[in-house]
Amino acid sequence: MIFAVIIFGILIGSFSNVVIYRMPRKLSIIKPGSHCVACNKEIKWHDNIPLISYVILKGKCRYCRERISLRYPLVEGLYGLLYGVSYLKFGLTVNLAFALIFITIIVWIMFIDLDFHIIPDTLNISLFILGIIRILYLFFRGDKNEIIINVIGFIGGFLLLFIIRRIASMIYKREAMGYGDVKLLAGAGLNLGIYNILLSFGFSTIIGAITALILLKFKKLSKGDEMAFGPFLVTGMIISLFFGSDIISWYINLFI
Ligand SMILES: [Zn+2]
Repeated sequence: MIFAVIIFGILIGSFSNVVIYRMPRKLSIIKPGSHCVACNKEIKWHDNIPLISYVILKGKCRYCRERISLRYPLVEGLYGLLYGVSYLKFGLTVNLAFALIFITIIVWIMFIDLDFHIIPDTLNISLFILGIIRILYLFFRGDKNEIIINVIGFIGGFLLLFIIRRIASMIYKREAMGYGDVKLLAGAGLNLGIYNILLSFGFSTIIGAITALILLKFKKLSKGDEMAFGPFLVTGMIISLFFGSDIISWYINLFI
C-alpha cells in the first residue's frame, strides 16, 4: 500500500510542478499540455514520466538539449516522500486525506513564495476552506476539543504574525513580511490547531535564522536583502504535522 501512496505522491508532485510554474505567472493550469520552457516544443507523454524521464533524458530537453531544472524531479521526489511519511503517520484514515491535501497546498505555497515572494490568495483561501471542511468533519464526529483548538489556532496564527509584522515594520521602518504570511499561518492554524501552529512558528524562526546566517556567511545574501518567510513556515508546519503531537507530549512529560 505504501508504494501506491508514494507513487501517487510522485504523480501529484509532477502536477505540482505545473501549478508552481504556471499559477504565479497567471497561466492556465490545464491548457496547454506540458511543453519545454526553452524551445516551447510539446513534451510527449513518454518523455513526461515523473522521475524516470528525467533520468532517461539525462536532464535535457529531447529537442533543444536545454537543461531541465533539477527542481522538477526534486519536487516529484519530495511529494513522494511526504505522501509516504503521511501514510506511515496516519494510516488509511480520513486524517490521511486531510494531511495529503494540506501538504499539497502548502508545498505549492513554499515554492511559489521562494520564486516570487508572493503567496497567491487562492492558495490561502484554499487552506481556509480545507480548515472549514475539517471543522465540519470534527463537528459530525463530535470532537469538540479539537474544534476549539483549531479555532484558537486560526485566531492565534493570525494575531501572532499580525503583531510580529507590525513590530518588525516599526523597527525596519518599512513593510516587513507580507500579509500573505499572516493569512498562511491563520489558515494553517485552522487545520493544525494552536499547539502545532506555535510549534510551526518556533521551528520556522529557528530554521529561518540558521539559513539566513549560512547564506550571509557564503555571501548568497547581503544585509537588507529580503528573504521569503513562507518556505520556513511551511517547513515548520510539515515538521509539526508529523511530529507535533510527539514533541508536545514529550514536553509535557518533562513536567509530570
Ligand atoms: Zn526544449
